[in-house]
Amino acid sequence: MRWRGRRQSSNVEDRRRMRASFPGGMRRIPVRIPMRRGGGMSISTIIILAVLFIGLRAIGIDPLEMLAQGPITEQSAQQAPANDETSQFVRVVLAETEDVWRQLFRAEGAEYSEPTLVLFYSQVESACGFASAASGPFYCPGDNRVYLDLDFFNELARRFQAAGDFAQAYVIAHEVGHHVQNLIGVLPRFNRMRAGMSQAEVNAVSVRVELQADCFAGVWAHHTDQRGLLEEGDIDEALNAAFQIGDDTLQKRTQGYVVPESFNHGTSQQRQRWFLRGYQTGQVSGCDTFEGDV
Ligand SMILES: [Zn+2]
Repeated sequence: MRWRGRRQSSNVEDRRRMRASFPGGMRRIPVRIPMRRGGGMSISTIIILAVLFIGLRAIGIDPLEMLAQGPITEQSAQQAPANDETSQFVRVVLAETEDVWRQLFRAEGAEYSEPTLVLFYSQVESACGFASAASGPFYCPGDNRVYLDLDFFNELARRFQAAGDFAQAYVIAHEVGHHVQNLIGVLPRFNRMRAGMSQAEVNAVSVRVELQADCFAGVWAHHTDQRGLLEEGDIDEALNAAFQIGDDTLQKRTQGYVVPESFNHGTSQQRQRWFLRGYQTGQVSGCDTFEGDV
């Protein structure tokens, strides 16, 4: 995707330097000390600590006393700089979704209210509850926010075998698709409906909701293409990502067999088909996943 030099959204909340507080717990801001993967200290870490120790003593602070008080914790991960390349990319993709959806809403005489995207590290608190990075990127209708741990992109490339910047853009556009669903009443309706439904029924409707978000991601890709931002291979990257995170492919990979009643996002083939439909039509009206078979 040709994203460099484009507008970056101001609707990104970078919480990567914060540790979310556990309910009832204490908010802790960790000071991260560079460690080797095995957990042992490298020579450079020891030198940094020694310099810090001497420096703090020189200005009248006793580092040992500080250590005794906490709240210094050690993390094996390096802290990401606030303006790193990946977060810039996320800001540009979010800005592109803002431009496209604003235009599409305006064409219908409606106003698009922009979501906020929260970057977090490891765990986060949202209006939808407490979440860890393991649950993957998500949208919370309660606070109109998309939550994303950038480590997911590494996982997408390695574990899910879906590399490429447009695979990442697809993930963001899918979450923004849920925001669009929230604005047009699809998510509120789903939440009212699910109260009286069995788990299998909830799953079946969930698949339709998810496939529509894929279709909306495709609609966004269509307009992004018209804006001249797509490069050769981008659509293939998105289609491959849609395939790799299909319920059947995920289940085959993790448990070796598939349980269709437990699907809640759609099969690989369905996810590809709906992304492609959105991409080809470029219209929200082409994304009615609630009528007939999907
Ligand atoms: Zn989704």
